[in-house]
Amino acid sequence: MRVFLNPGHSLGGNPDPGCVNPRCRLRECDLAITYGSLCGKYLEAAGCEVSLLQSHNLAGESPEYPCVVAAANAWEADVFVSIHVNAGGGRGAETYCYNLGGKGERLAHCIQNQLVAAIQPIDQGYRDRGVMEHPTFCVLRNTNMPAVLVEVGFIDSDDVGVLTLHGDEIARALARGITDYWQDM
Ligand SMILES: [Zn+2]
Repeated sequence: MRVFLNPGHSLGGNPDPGCVNPRCRLRECDLAITYGSLCGKYLEAAGCEVSLLQSHNLAGESPEYPCVVAAANAWEADVFVSIHVNAGGGRGAETYCYNLGGKGERLAHCIQNQLVAAIQPIDQGYRDRGVMEHPTFCVLRNTNMPAVLVEVGFIDSDDVGVLTLHGDEIARALARGITDYWQDM
């Protein structure tokens, strides 16, 4: 299986760090590349081919950076997973697919289920916010393969504990979700 991982926002945070915790300065871009890199190592250990790209050009809008969607399509990935962290003070994980009823939804459920199963025992306040469709996210709309965008938790809530201390569990759960999807095919 060829897995394309897209940690959200700009590599190194410039020009777009994603969401930032106003008190501790924790940045989404740094968490996303941490989870993505670790997840990629676990997937490779499980026999997957992995391509990882964090870039400030999702679908051609910033041509001075490598284009995420074009790279995933050209590489002919079997699945595409964009990794993000939420803001707004909620708790827990939510995963988006382009539309409900297809392979993208199945991939989303596999990832969402593994994430919740891994993190809720560590922190009971971590919620299962479910799988939703989001047809206007360009990384979901413009990719040719089943694609999901996972919001691992909230950078500005009590999720910060698991986001910072349990990144390895998060990365392992993401990898297990992806391999679950493949084994179900
Ligand atoms: Zn984001």
